[in-house]
Order: sequence, then C-alpha cells, then structure tokens
Amino acid sequence: MDSANLVLARTQFAAKIAVTMKRKSTHKPGLQTQAIHAGEPNRRGVNGPIVTEIIRSSTFTFSSTEEMKLWAEGKNKAYIYTRYGNPTLSVAENKIAALEGAEAAVVTSSGMSAISSALLAALKTGDEVISTAQLYGGSYRLMRDVFPNMGITVHQVGTDLAGIEKLVSPRTKVLYVETPTNPTLRLVDIYKAVAFAKKHKLVSIIDNTFATPVLQNPIALGYDMVVHSATKALAGHSDLIAGVAVGRAAWMNRVRHMIIYLGGSMDPGVAYLLIRGIKTLGVRVARQCENAIAVAKYLERHSKVARVHYPGLPSHPDHKIAKKQMRGFGGMLAFDLKGGLPAARRFCDRVRLFLLAASLGGVESLVILPIYSSHYNMTNEELRRAGVSPGTVRVSMGLEDKEDLIEDLKQALG
Ligand code: PLP
Repeated sequence: MDSANLVLARTQFAAKIAVTMKRKSTHKPGLQTQAIHAGEPNRRGVNGPIVTEIIRSSTFTFSSTEEMKLWAEGKNKAYIYTRYGNPTLSVAENKIAALEGAEAAVVTSSGMSAISSALLAALKTGDEVISTAQLYGGSYRLMRDVFPNMGITVHQVGTDLAGIEKLVSPRTKVLYVETPTNPTLRLVDIYKAVAFAKKHKLVSIIDNTFATPVLQNPIALGYDMVVHSATKALAGHSDLIAGVAVGRAAWMNRVRHMIIYLGGSMDPGVAYLLIRGIKTLGVRVARQCENAIAVAKYLERHSKVARVHYPGLPSHPDHKIAKKQMRGFGGMLAFDLKGGLPAARRFCDRVRLFLLAASLGGVESLVILPIYSSHYNMTNEELRRAGVSPGTVRVSMGLEDKEDLIEDLKQALG
C-alpha cells in the first residue's frame, strides 16, 4: 500500500468500524460483548492483528492541497493532527459511545478535562448552572474557584433536588449532577433530573464515573451528556489518567472543539491502555459489586461502625432509587466510624491488604479519607453540605477475594 492509500485507509479506519454482530442480526449484544468488540475494526482474514494499533503519530499526511482545502472547509473528515483526532482515539470513542448507547464520544486527557470541556461547551459568561452540592471535590472546586471568575454563577441543590424550581432563572443553562456521588454514595433520581432539565430547556450533564455504563445509562433515560473519569473503572488498572464525554454528535462536536482549543486531548498510548482496560469492564464491575455488598454487610454489623453508605443496603436512604435506575449497586462504598477522625485514621493506618491511596475503580481495593484527598481545602460548612464527616472512610472495592478483604477489615478495626 503506498503512503497515500495508507493514509486513506487510516482516515477511513474509524468510519468503517462497526459492531459486526449488530450488522448481522437484530440481536443487541450484551455489555461485556460490546466492551470487547464495539468500536473495533472488523477483524477477519489473514494476518490481522487482534488488538488496536497505536497510531503514535502527532500529524497525518494529505495527498494533495485539494484534500487539505476540503478538510479546511469541513468537507472531509481526514485526521490532520492528533489534538483534533486520531484513529486509536476513535476506537476508544466508538467503544465508549456504544457502551453508553450514545451517538458519539470524545476522549480526553483526564476526567476533569472532560468535565470542564463539557461544561464550557454549554456555558458562556452570564450563564448559570445548577449543580448538586455533593460532587467529586475537583468538579466542585472548578465551579467554586474558576467559574465565578468567568462570570458563570453556580447554584447548589441537594441530591434530592428539593427546592430546585426556586433556583431557575432565564439565565440557567445547565443542570449538572453526579450519581452516585463521591464520596458518600447519595443518589440523584435521574428521571426527576431529566424531567426538570427538559421542562426548563437546560442542558443536562451527568458524571457517570461511579456507576459506569455497566450499571447505568443516563443517555437512554434522556440525559444530554455523560462525563467520566476514565482513569477509574473504565480503564480499571490504576495506570493512566483519562476522561471521556459522551452524547449526541452535535454536542460532542462542541466538546471536541473545547478539547481542540483548550488542549485536553488524549495521547494514543493512553487510548490503547484504555481500550484494553474496557475489554474487561463488565466482569470487573460485577466482581466489584459482589465484593462491595459483602464488605458493606460486614461493616454494617461491626460494633465500631456508626454508618455504612452503600446504595445496595436497604438501610441506605436512596436504596429505592438505586433499584429503579441502576442494574447493580457499584463497587464504591463509604463508612463512618464511631470514633470519628482518630478512629478513621487508625483504621487507614492499619490496613494491610487494602491500600491507602486516592482514586478508585482499579483491581486493587483502596481506602482513603476524603478530607485528606478529594475533599481537601473545604470549610466545615462545605463538608457538611457535601455530606462528608471527618471520620468518613471511602472504600474502592477491587477484585481480590472477599474473604481476604473482610479478614483485613477485621484486623484493622480490631
Ligand atoms: N469525577 C469523579 C466522580 C471522580 O471521582 C474523579 C476523580 O477522582 C473525577 C471526576 C476527575 O477525574 P480525573 O482525576 O481523571 O481528572
């Protein structure tokens, strides 16, 4: 193949991709099947690689100035430069779009890059956002510390959306929620949120990091945009930083332009690892859910534990909502120790199998104190609104054997 044809083949690489099974019958493949095959080229024939090629090229050739002119006029979708798009990134984007049941996706250099670009694609100076007060600390700080300087006003609402009608004005443009929330696993009723956003013609954006597309598909329920920290369960191995925004093609075009202007593009090597990680998403999340319910039940019975935050427990205030909108309860939980911060620190300092580390969604089980990680640099009032107490321990379930994890909890709490 000469170089012009090679380029042509590469530029058509993403366009050609399709879920082979979808073409052959009306049967809709399951999530784990999609995680493996969606977004990939049709892998048949002799000498075909079975894994994604890393197109580690920052730039792409054109065969003529005429082709470049067509690209500049938006009449040709050729890859030009990796910040704008790249065949390896396209595989990751098509795979995640399929998992979320969306038209398109844009992969980004981090979850925060996906979140900021999605929000800025929908907002301008003078606009207002309504956001849940319970959010990942980074998203909260973006809205607290950066948006006011851009003339964007943020109003906060509880996860139950109580009083939300009073927060709307003609300037309100976006409803932003996270469900389940980081770190205390409160839930927003997605049906209620969508109905509210539609009634007021707001752009609805949801952080689906904790649920993953395995457990919840907000696009199918009417959300405009889904964002993820792909660093977490999507990639699943604690070895990269990545993000993704998902939604209708028109919205993703706007998000892509934010990525192009602000520079939060993904590296092709990271995209390869992300694609590889996603292939086991379904089985990893199933195992994390299984471990989480076992650990949550153990902790709920423990005499030193004041409260367990896990939506799979009937005692959780949002258990009914979880059953309505999620297909499982997730691999994240939190708990409060009766002894407050000193007891929480003692516990975290004593774990042997669990690792003391920020982040989540990997194969290793982790514990962390939110006040020293996601929720640093917050006043007591902010922590109260976020539902975080100094003695809250957040747990990210990995894939280890649950008996070993419970044994470790027993000795660390002892
Ligand atoms: N959203 C949630 C729910 C998170 O937990 C995080 C990070 O912890 C982010 C977004 C930010 O993602 P990243 O660290 O990939 O930028």
